[in-house]
Amino acid sequence: MSCTNRIKEEILELKAERRAIILAHSYQNEEVQDIADFVGDSFALSRISAENDSSVIVFCGVHFMAESAYILSPQKTVLLPVPEAGCPMADMAEVEDVLEWKEKYPQAAVVSYVNSSAAVKAVSDICCTSANAINVIKSLDQKEIIFLPDQNLGSYIASRVPEKTIHLWPGYCRTHHRVTPEEVLRVKELHPEAEILIHPECRPEVVALADFVGSTTQIIKQVSRSTADSFVIGTEMGIIHGLTKKYPQKKFYLLSPGLICPNMKKITLQDVLHSLKNLQPVITVPEPVRSQAYKALDRMLQIGS
Ligand code: SF4
Repeated sequence: MSCTNRIKEEILELKAERRAIILAHSYQNEEVQDIADFVGDSFALSRISAENDSSVIVFCGVHFMAESAYILSPQKTVLLPVPEAGCPMADMAEVEDVLEWKEKYPQAAVVSYVNSSAAVKAVSDICCTSANAINVIKSLDQKEIIFLPDQNLGSYIASRVPEKTIHLWPGYCRTHHRVTPEEVLRVKELHPEAEILIHPECRPEVVALADFVGSTTQIIKQVSRSTADSFVIGTEMGIIHGLTKKYPQKKFYLLSPGLICPNMKKITLQDVLHSLKNLQPVITVPEPVRSQAYKALDRMLQIGS
């Protein structure tokens, strides 16, 4: 038996012993996606972590995702196999700055993208994901919104919900923000037949060139319903693994070689095994931050996708 297969077997045995589930974000390494019970975006994974009756959640993603799983299910042991796997965009919003903005725009509702720390969620009115951001913002009574931390997703929402005044936080995802309109034009020339699917974390001038704009789950759904045979994928490269497995007859091209998130690639099978063996590293969020952040997350979950 190969070393990889032995690791996989050990993971499966320990998973059963610990009553654990393995959740993997669609941007994770292929080997990690393949061992996971569920692969999806932050919204889908938050729901699963809240609804599943396992005792242990091995969260293969980045820090804020494991925090969200704990916020929703504090009775469970939430493991993040590599605790240094963070999200630079989430780190671009600090609580003190959010409180300053709240003072500056007292009428505004604070909507935080799930890619934010638990502490920031705790001072927010509601959370959103890239899949439900438009519905979340439309659901609010307030006309004025502080949207953080992603200025690109915020600009996209502002273009789709013009009746609201949206104050944009100056954060961005390094992986998506580095894609340029020139790259889109080049790929269009190379693959004129392909449908261009782009994540709203990309810059507005890049998003403007898309045939379809959506979250990772929405991009996957678009592939399933489209009659096109080939697609240019404008989000993190990890999603192509699942797409190729599900639609082997279709062709997928990555929009830019820069679409790789180093933090999402930190977790390996070895790390998953180590984490399950030692039930470490555990992610928790202290009270009252957890219960305050819970309100913002739960309000989002009530709205749906
Ligand atoms: S892809 Fe961007 S938003 Fe997602 S974890 Fe990586 S840096 Fe954060």
